[in-house]
Amino acid sequence: LQGSKMDLLSGLNPEQRAAVELPARSALILAGAGSGKTRVLTTRIAYLISNGLVSPSGVLAVTFTNKASKEMQARLSAMLPINTRSMWIGTFHGLCNRLLRAHYREANLPQTFQILDSSDQQSAIKRVMKALNVDDEKYPPRELQNFIGRNKEQGLRAHEVEAYDPYTRRKIEVFAAYDEQCQREGVVDFSELLLRCYELLSRNQQLREHYQERFKHILVDEFQDTNPLQYRWLKLLAGQSNALFAVGDDDQSIYAFRGANVGNMQELLRDFHVENVIKLEQNYRSHGNILDAANALISRNRNRLGKELWTAEHKGEPLRVYEAPTDMDEARFIADEVRHLHREGVALSEMAVLYRSNAQSRALEHALVAAGVSYRVYGGQRFYERQEIKHALAYLRLLVNQDDDNSLLRVINFPTRGIGARSIEQLQESAKQYNTTLFDAAARMGGKVTGFVGLIEEMRSATANLPLPEIVDHVLAHSGLMANYQNETGAKKHEAQERIDNLNELLNAATLFVHENEDDSLVAFLTHATLEAGEHQAEAGSDALHLMTVHAAKGLEFHSVFISGLEEGLFPHQNSQNEDGGLDEERRLMYVALTRARRRLYLTFAQSRMLHGQVNYNMMSSFLRELPDELLQWLSPRLTQRTPSAFRAYSPPAAGSTKLPPAPPAPVKEGAWRIGQRVFHQKFGEGTITGLEGNGTEGRVQVNFKHAGSKWLALEYAKLTSA
Ligand code: ATP
Ligand code: MG
Repeated sequence: LQGSKMDLLSGLNPEQRAAVELPARSALILAGAGSGKTRVLTTRIAYLISNGLVSPSGVLAVTFTNKASKEMQARLSAMLPINTRSMWIGTFHGLCNRLLRAHYREANLPQTFQILDSSDQQSAIKRVMKALNVDDEKYPPRELQNFIGRNKEQGLRAHEVEAYDPYTRRKIEVFAAYDEQCQREGVVDFSELLLRCYELLSRNQQLREHYQERFKHILVDEFQDTNPLQYRWLKLLAGQSNALFAVGDDDQSIYAFRGANVGNMQELLRDFHVENVIKLEQNYRSHGNILDAANALISRNRNRLGKELWTAEHKGEPLRVYEAPTDMDEARFIADEVRHLHREGVALSEMAVLYRSNAQSRALEHALVAAGVSYRVYGGQRFYERQEIKHALAYLRLLVNQDDDNSLLRVINFPTRGIGARSIEQLQESAKQYNTTLFDAAARMGGKVTGFVGLIEEMRSATANLPLPEIVDHVLAHSGLMANYQNETGAKKHEAQERIDNLNELLNAATLFVHENEDDSLVAFLTHATLEAGEHQAEAGSDALHLMTVHAAKGLEFHSVFISGLEEGLFPHQNSQNEDGGLDEERRLMYVALTRARRRLYLTFAQSRMLHGQVNYNMMSSFLRELPDELLQWLSPRLTQRTPSAFRAYSPPAAGSTKLPPAPPAPVKEGAWRIGQRVFHQKFGEGTITGLEGNGTEGRVQVNFKHAGSKWLALEYAKLTSA
């Protein structure tokens, strides 16, 4: 073992090595991006195990994303001849889920409890609001969702929240009723996972002592982004004598909006009597220009704990800046560059396109599909959020937990089986009257509604002893879902085919899941579908470009990175302007984005962008201005005009052929709109078309409205009719 000990430490610099070899006391490693924090943390686990200082089961390691925990496990396997799958390495949510599954009785949960994702949670809240007659104009469901989440993340139950005014009191009522409903239905939301687990450990002394005895070493990556409840959870597990090893970077704190608290770092020093704070200042990730840009940007923030980053690498290339006329052009530019880099030998998985908001991925996906670039969207919950997948999961959920009212409501009449809105209302009333779940009420109601209960029960008994993929297969066939889409004809046929492909993809996901996991039960799979949403949408293992939000990119690194949508209002986000410290948080986010790149960095923005059905004309991001000019290389001519006609004058090259002269304006299809035509719009009223560009789903039209003035509208959303 002595030999492997040396191997483990040999690649590290003296500070990193000191951190890995720290005695079993609590410690904080405070260090900038790319300085080896995660590497140190992983190496420390290997070091402790290989030197017999702890057994693999005595380690608890918290990572920020599922992707990060998989990577950590893979690295550990490479360093140690042990099976890392059974180790307690995961996200806060993942680890809490595991604890609650193991002790579901003590936690007062059904064995097969299901997890609500954000949209499930919203429908659950809406049902509660309806039952309590709460006006959803005065109390937007999304606001209530935030209210509930925020309080739970502070460790507060409904009865512990202070009510200053009638408005808040009403919100607390909904909060309480929502929690009761969840309990009745056997479901938990994301923040409940943590709170429930925390309460379990704090109330149950025996269990707490058992785990305190077990986890001698607790290691936390990205510590700056833990919220107060997570911190208390860690404190509880650490007890009096276990070692908490935390690594973090205050400059990368990007979850304050969700209650994360950098102050945790100060608390840690105090609560755990930390004597040694180790700083790591050498960056091993990025070339000099990239690091200089990141350092220059973050130096504008106030209240930093202060560390300098340097690199022994050479300067490398300048940062490439591209200004596009429209978001579509920006996306095409990115797709072209990706193909170009790929031809030069950079693997697709070594490249990432980052954006501030999920909504931006649509244009990017469009261009990538057109250019034939395979990609995977991370963290966007794309796959598991698709309608047909949610339907299929709802059936599967009902098999394991018939009390799940959300799921029942989703599929009781999908595919249509003649159960109308009135029957569903009756069903809900009956459930309320007898204080039962919908499923129980349905069993008594008779007719088609009871037929649905029979269908679920039939499927349950038919699949009781089947392996997971066969369960999924059976449910897709017998629920009628597959047939429903297969029978689609006419205009919907194409869309239906996509849905069928996705359902088959779900089957693949189940097969892969069995292959990769020890616990391959249906419950485990459903948990995975909620907790790891979006991480298995493309074939696993294939080379694909990464598409993700900047938040999701934390901790990762790539050869080449595109930061897209660098526009004022988008990044920095509009919301940040009204919040105290909001701009600083956006700047830290930009710092995270910049420091993901090892070798090449693209910064792109568009003059006009279609978001939420509206064309917006934006200014270049102030963050771009904050980067030293000498580090930037402009790939596009700088455009000054910001009128729509400016992008007629500068048409981008067509996809895949950078050498072609500017493409002429796309012709408007026969039978489509023409200049001078009189039109009618639902909101803006009557007007006359004065400009056109593009066609199909990308088409835009300029209309001079009688009362609303001149506007550019996206044809796909504007729903114009001719007047
Ligand atoms: P972030 O703040 O972005 O999470 P980090 O501090 O966790 O970054 P790592 O991801 O651990 O940094 O390391 C960044 C890169 O530098 C990795 O590719 C890692 O393998 C490499 N690296 C770290 N330390 C060394 C070293 N001593 N020698 C060579 N490469 C190193
Ligand atoms: Mg890291």
